[in-house]
Amino acid sequence: MTRTCSVPGCNNQPTAFGNLCPRHKKNKSRWGHELQQPLSRGEAARLILHCRKLIDRRNNAEAIYGSLRAIRLALKRDAIETLQGRRAGTVMTEGPAIAAQILVDVLGQSDEAADQAMMLVVSLGYLSADNASRFRCDNALFCAVARRFRAMARTQFTGHISPSSGQRHHAMKDMKMKHSLYLGRLLMASFGPAGALLQEQEQERLRGAEVRKNNVFRAITGDTTI
Ligand SMILES: [Zn+2]
Repeated sequence: MTRTCSVPGCNNQPTAFGNLCPRHKKNKSRWGHELQQPLSRGEAARLILHCRKLIDRRNNAEAIYGSLRAIRLALKRDAIETLQGRRAGTVMTEGPAIAAQILVDVLGQSDEAADQAMMLVVSLGYLSADNASRFRCDNALFCAVARRFRAMARTQFTGHISPSSGQRHHAMKDMKMKHSLYLGRLLMASFGPAGALLQEQEQERLRGAEVRKNNVFRAITGDTTI
């Protein structure tokens, strides 16, 4: 009997020691779930823009950016201390060390680039609150956060107009799933709540607009059934 991949509708042959075919196995190890739709650079960019607009529209926008930046600086400081502790010989598991290196790489860039990386995580907090079906599971969310965040480290390519995928791979290595999960969880714990709050307030605003629209409609038509 020939076995097939455990994903419904996929008739490819699974790998020797597993239930998934190579394609779905790779998707699972990269994006946290065999059927997870990857988060593209374009989708991330649109989300960041949307969340920036939501913040900019508020009266306390500067205060919000200020407290987000304070979290970003604290994260970076912790990451630097983690790496220094490691060099000093403190025994440390791989996950925190890799996360710390990536945090320093990404947040150690220009303020503008670091802000953009921070807004990426805020906007993924927004997205996961706004569209529950976008991520198949929590792991898929953490993987998307970690992979997109890491892709924002560009300093090692300064001078290269367009690094080849080989160069990029050499500089950034491929992150193991458990490391993605560790970093993704850490980032979401730091910036995710701000994104969820933005989404909540946006929903309230939209509901408010709906109520105002209905009130206007009632005033015009005298209809009281709406
Ligand atoms: Zn398959």
